[in-house]
Amino acid sequence: MKLITKRQLVGICATLLLAFNVQAAKLAILIDDFGYRLQNENQVLKMPLAVSVAIFPAAPDSHTMMMKAHQQGREILIHLPMEPISKQPLEKNTLMPSMSSGEIKRIVDQAIANIPYAVGINNHQGSKMTSSLSGMQSVMQAMSPHNMFFLDSMTIGNTKSVQAAQGTNVKVIKRNVFLDDVQNDAEIRHQFERAIALARRNGYAIAIGHPHPATIRVLQQMLPNLPSDIVLVRPSDLLNEPTRSVSAGKIPPLPTVKKVSKTSKGLGQCVNKQPIQPVYADAMFKVIGESIATSPVVTFFERQFENWGKAPAAPAEQPAASAAPKS
Ligand SMILES: [Zn+2]
Repeated sequence: MKLITKRQLVGICATLLLAFNVQAAKLAILIDDFGYRLQNENQVLKMPLAVSVAIFPAAPDSHTMMMKAHQQGREILIHLPMEPISKQPLEKNTLMPSMSSGEIKRIVDQAIANIPYAVGINNHQGSKMTSSLSGMQSVMQAMSPHNMFFLDSMTIGNTKSVQAAQGTNVKVIKRNVFLDDVQNDAEIRHQFERAIALARRNGYAIAIGHPHPATIRVLQQMLPNLPSDIVLVRPSDLLNEPTRSVSAGKIPPLPTVKKVSKTSKGLGQCVNKQPIQPVYADAMFKVIGESIATSPVVTFFERQFENWGKAPAAPAEQPAASAAPKS
């Protein structure tokens, strides 16, 4: 029987790796509602710099937090109050669809003057305002000369932000996951995992949280242990990503290890004629690990390696050891 050389085996592995088109998935985390809870917000500012913050235009600690975040080089957004459908206490200068475009411009300009280091705006509340096309057109027109982007918090599915930004130079990105609608550690952890799953599926995801003690606690635990195929980015790093509208709803089933490993079954199918979906590193290692553990071809290689340099031996009876690296 003809033995394969080590060099040939390395070549096969490299081909497998290239075929899987490994890349990191991007996750942006924005903590908004900044300006009222100095102590909690200071904890957020100890998190990795890619964790961005959105500050109310005129809250008691807005200026202090803006200066601190700016000095750190952290990305800042303005957390602009917009009218909700439900009855809730409103911030001063909450934007309403009933306002004239002149009044909306005055409020937007004032907010930008208060938080001059902001590079973008996201909405606080705003289900009524963001679902008003004319109201959002006034917002986008007011933002346009300032070269800022709009991160839609997606407090309503029927938002008009994208449509309203047409004809202006305002780029719009959308929140995918709220981390802490339920302020409970387990639920926040679950939402964080959803954000990771969405990032893997779509290439990126945007999660919004608030400076609640539970959110801070969970992020402090989870951020240092991000999976190796997830990279934290700032919201502005996602402005040129293709828009996808997967949001608060159900996440479509993620490609499972079994499903993906079909494409790599057997060495004869290493080169895929169909364009394959990118597979993120962790998933890839699992796939390769499983393939390696189960593929009869690789089992054969293993046997050859076990007996490298030895006299030909009887067929191995041991099951193939799992070669999956821990991810
Ligand atoms: Zn808010």
